[in-house]
Amino acid sequence: MDHFLYRDGALFAEDVPVADIAAAVGTPVYVYSTATLVRHFRLFDEALAGMDHLICYAMKAASNLAILKTLAREGAGMDVVSAGEYLRAKAAGVPGDRIVFSGVGKTPAEIRLALEGGVRQFNVESEPELEAISAIAASMGTTAPITIRVNPDVDAKTHAKIATGKSENKFGIPIARARDVYALAASLPGIDVVGIDVHIGSQLTDLAPFETAYSKVADLTEALRADGHDIRRLDLGGGLGIPYTRGNEPPPLPSDYGDLVRRTVGHLGCEIEIEPGRLIVGNAGLLVSEVIYVKSGEGRDFLILDAAMNDLIRPAMYEAHHDIVPVIEPAPGAEQHPFDVVGPVCETGDTFARQRVMPPVAAGDLVAFRSAGAYGAVMASEYNSRPLVPEVLVDGDKFAVIRARPTFDEMINRDTIPEWL
Ligand SMILES: *Cc1c(COP(=O)(O)O)cnc(C)c1O
Repeated sequence: MDHFLYRDGALFAEDVPVADIAAAVGTPVYVYSTATLVRHFRLFDEALAGMDHLICYAMKAASNLAILKTLAREGAGMDVVSAGEYLRAKAAGVPGDRIVFSGVGKTPAEIRLALEGGVRQFNVESEPELEAISAIAASMGTTAPITIRVNPDVDAKTHAKIATGKSENKFGIPIARARDVYALAASLPGIDVVGIDVHIGSQLTDLAPFETAYSKVADLTEALRADGHDIRRLDLGGGLGIPYTRGNEPPPLPSDYGDLVRRTVGHLGCEIEIEPGRLIVGNAGLLVSEVIYVKSGEGRDFLILDAAMNDLIRPAMYEAHHDIVPVIEPAPGAEQHPFDVVGPVCETGDTFARQRVMPPVAAGDLVAFRSAGAYGAVMASEYNSRPLVPEVLVDGDKFAVIRARPTFDEMINRDTIPEWL
């Protein structure tokens, strides 16, 4: 459920007409709903009630400071994958002991930054990384809390680019080798082993792969405890999918997921961490765009928008589907027509949808891409020298620009011409 509904024939974001935001800020623009963000966070919090837990929002899904602050105020920790994300989390007021540092290629500078500023744990993905963290922590006279990310060799049954838990993926340590790597960790200076980490992929629409992975983690917990390790924390990753197409069978709910967590690892007495990204912010964001032209082609018609693949790359990159709805509610029974919905960028990949059946739309009309909150604005670029798409946060009847569109001067002045030119 989200808070983007039609009222009296117009699409609203909570209590604000989407058209008002477009008029004030221009298009394209991302619009997020505070109530939806908070609702999704609380669903996870309730799902894990009764277990000692921390929800570390995977901020790579949408990392605007205002979104981070909204979630941090609810008690969220953060899952970060770079120095930039770490510093953003800090800038949003998240303390180090609520920041988990993930990622397959942490640099020495990133490790040092997190040790200096405080970190809940590093989720370690390889032996060389473990050795690097040990050396840096020891040289600083400190101890690094770590988990080891195990790769359970589970097929997440999701898009190949976002499946991470198969043995051929670059992520984690094969679970069969985990005991050896934990033994290495225990022998190294500057390392405090606190638990186990697993993350098998994104946009999972079936709980079975989680069940298999978490059962393997439960078995590993017992084996590692028998080896003498103090396994007290389980980081179960993110990945729960969201409904992108209205009317389709919805994916499992956070409450189903919580029951699964309780069933598979609840008996171990561990503190539970999860790292949801998409489910918290995906359906809390719209991308609003204006129709520039309606073009009739050979046997097909095109809706040419002022949003493009540089603003929302998911259709081009993952063949992703986004529902696209007019901001003015179509009349009941209005005749529908198939369009290819495209942006202005000079490549065929700049296609949001092919032969999408849409209600009547004309040049100048506003449309909204639903479910655009996750992996939308964060993946935007200035390809074609199109200004980076701005972001707006709505809360009740208020809205604020949380990232302004750059001016052309700002864009151009970021470049410098060498003195020999
Ligand atoms: C991407 C990622 C997540 C978040 O995945 P979602 O599908 O957005 O929930 C969590 N943990 C790690 C390690 C990730 O790489």
